Amino acid sequence: MKFGHQTTLRNEILIEGKGVHGNRPVRVMLRPDAINAGIRFLRTGLKSGHERLLRAHWSEVGMTRLCTVLGQDSTGSVGTVEHLMAALRGLGLDNVLVEIDGPEVPILDGSAQDFVELIDEAGIVEQKAPRRYLKVLKSVRIEEGEGFAELAPARRGFKLDVAIDFANPVIGAQRYEMELDSRKFRNDIAGARTFGFVSDVKKLWAAGLALGSTLQNSVAIEGERILNPEGLRFNDEFVRHKLLDAIGDLALAGAPIIGSYRSLRGGHKMNVAVLEALFADPSAYTYVQDSPSVRPLVGQAELGLAGAATFAPGVD
Ligand SMILES: [Zn+2]
Repeated sequence: MKFGHQTTLRNEILIEGKGVHGNRPVRVMLRPDAINAGIRFLRTGLKSGHERLLRAHWSEVGMTRLCTVLGQDSTGSVGTVEHLMAALRGLGLDNVLVEIDGPEVPILDGSAQDFVELIDEAGIVEQKAPRRYLKVLKSVRIEEGEGFAELAPARRGFKLDVAIDFANPVIGAQRYEMELDSRKFRNDIAGARTFGFVSDVKKLWAAGLALGSTLQNSVAIEGERILNPEGLRFNDEFVRHKLLDAIGDLALAGAPIIGSYRSLRGGHKMNVAVLEALFADPSAYTYVQDSPSVRPLVGQAELGLAGAATFAPGVD
């Protein structure tokens, strides 16, 4: 695939499963969409009989506790969008309509693996329009307690550097750095599952949350033990999952990012806040696309890029 063109799905995809919080069955259709449509969620199955169209955009985010929810009021909102969003961004999809008949994207196995496999089966096609990238021009940073999330300029690509630091020794301190491309996303990130502590899950259950949380869709930690009989998929599965979440949340920028993201003890709330901070300062970003007018004039020769496509995409 040549980079620089917008993409959509070749075929529709049906996904059925249950939401991790409500534990109710939900049906999702991913449909090809038009040039410049972006990723949009069409919420159906509402009691009113109406449908609600939500852009997958940071400005539409309602809640960020436990997961990322699109829709600022609960009527027709769509929760747990982050793993699907990560799969769409990780594989370089620009224009997709996500039709969903319930309030939550299915949790499936707690990772983005099934989304990736279904998208690979359906296929990705190029569209006859250049892709627009969001280029970070100035650093923005959000701090909360001992954590932070930051977006900074980068010459090319989308770099992520994610660190976590848990007192629990099963997790401890982990860090993962990568430059996003679809091969690395598929092999190293998509399979990393969400995780939680049994002590927290019991509290969430009491509050009517995480009702669908099981060992089939999360890594469960009790004391210093992992309860899942199959163990971990990667030694550092926890930080890889945090990186997956960050890719999904930052896909709410509305365009692939050229820049560098760093976080320590981050999460959905800080990820959305750092996008909000970026967009609050019009001098902190610009949009670029692969056309002669935006090719950088220096550095091509040293990078061996002279005559080649200029902006390395966040994904390929
Ligand atoms: Zn997650």
